[in-house]
Amino acid sequence: MEREHKPLTVGVLALQGDFEAHLRTLQRCGVHAQEVRTIQQLQEVDGLIIPGGESTTIMKLLQRYGLDTLLRQRAEQGMPVYGTCAGLIVMAREIEGYPQQPRLGLLNVAVARNAFGRQVDSFEIDLPVPKLGEPPLRAVFIRAPYVTRVGENVEVLASLNGKIVLVQQKNLLGGAFHPELTEDLRLHGYFVEMVRAYRKQQ
Ligand code: GLN
Repeated sequence: MEREHKPLTVGVLALQGDFEAHLRTLQRCGVHAQEVRTIQQLQEVDGLIIPGGESTTIMKLLQRYGLDTLLRQRAEQGMPVYGTCAGLIVMAREIEGYPQQPRLGLLNVAVARNAFGRQVDSFEIDLPVPKLGEPPLRAVFIRAPYVTRVGENVEVLASLNGKIVLVQQKNLLGGAFHPELTEDLRLHGYFVEMVRAYRKQQ
């Protein structure tokens, strides 16, 4: 009952990485954004962004603070989760070449880390994302992974030179790049709509 009076709240996992840029972008989308570091905060949000950073560190901290189990549970119950870059790696079922790396394993994909090569550590590009319409999305890639294989129920939303860089599996969204570092709010807006739809069902 109490939930109905609470404004729609999108959480950003704030253990490590570029969570502040996501918080600012969500605020610019006109939605209430909440840093998530504790179990209680994770219980209160209607959706969660896992930011870029270092995937091994983010996962280690998720486990240390006991957030991994609840996050898996809530995602499996339908809460929208959007992982960007390291967040995508943390969400993946398989990490190529790192079979022992702990992960949430929510998203039915395999990813390759640092997959665009060392020479081109970072780059910015206009990425066509048909779901978002025209113009293409401005996307920043920083030591980015990409998706090497997709399993059942995974929809490919964008590819770059044949490499899959944005996927959706029902309530789960995973992207290799950083939309929070540009002025383009459309991908965050798309995620906020997923969160709004989820909240309506509650
Ligand atoms: N290469 C990093 C990792 O494996 C991800 C880079 C990023 O999030 N910008 O965690």
